[in-house]
Amino acid sequence: MLQFRNVTKVYDNTNVTALENINLEIEKGEFVFLVGHSGAGKSTLIKLITAEEKATSGEIIINDINVTKLKSKEIPFYRRTLGMVFQDFRLLENKTVIENVAFAMKVVGATNRQIRRRAPDVLGRVGLSQKAHFLPDQLSGGEQQRVAIARALANNPNLIIADEPTGNLDPDISGEIMQYLEEINRSGTTVIVATHDKDIVNRMHKRVIAVDGGSIVRDDERGGYSDDEEF
Ligand code: ADP
Repeated sequence: MLQFRNVTKVYDNTNVTALENINLEIEKGEFVFLVGHSGAGKSTLIKLITAEEKATSGEIIINDINVTKLKSKEIPFYRRTLGMVFQDFRLLENKTVIENVAFAMKVVGATNRQIRRRAPDVLGRVGLSQKAHFLPDQLSGGEQQRVAIARALANNPNLIIADEPTGNLDPDISGEIMQYLEEINRSGTTVIVATHDKDIVNRMHKRVIAVDGGSIVRDDERGGYSDDEEF
């Protein structure tokens, strides 16, 4: 479902080679951790997937779409096939939980009827049905991140990309968030999680792709962090 073929990214402004000759294949339904210390190239890899950045060379194919060849006007349509979760939640503070989910659907053209059916459903999947009419600041950090996960699910994406989703959360809450992502993955959605959280990676025994200096230095089917790695 996702392929990088000889992908290199050089940032023009600084001439930094953020990624060099990356070859990567992720199958539909996989759960993948992306690890690596700061500056390794994780965000760049994610931005190439979301088409926020353009590869300097090579090809990126996601769900049969050649992302490297997308025209600017095609990018918003392509992004609808992705669900994004961020470290800082990025909820709309003046909208309730359910309005946050509804808004994400409205901007991609969902009808009110579709929203009425789907929004409560995705909130149920993250255990937030009871808090649908709360504002984000009336929720804990973990709950806010669950809203963000519901929002990412709202448009039924093929791929969920979570960039440090537990970076602002306590360890016990982090585990809970990962359980929700794992459950979503179990129902068939491909999930990629960029993280520094050693405990979580070691506990979950998922595929681990480690990036360092712009290259993939390790790709383990059921990996963890080894003791000599410090990310
Ligand atoms: P990570 O997410 O693993 O911390 P990044 O992908 O952000 O790593 O960064 C990889 C390299 O690319 C770093 O050397 C960083 O300074 C550089 N870089 C990232 N974004 C930009 C940018 N917009 N312009 C120039 N250089 C960048």
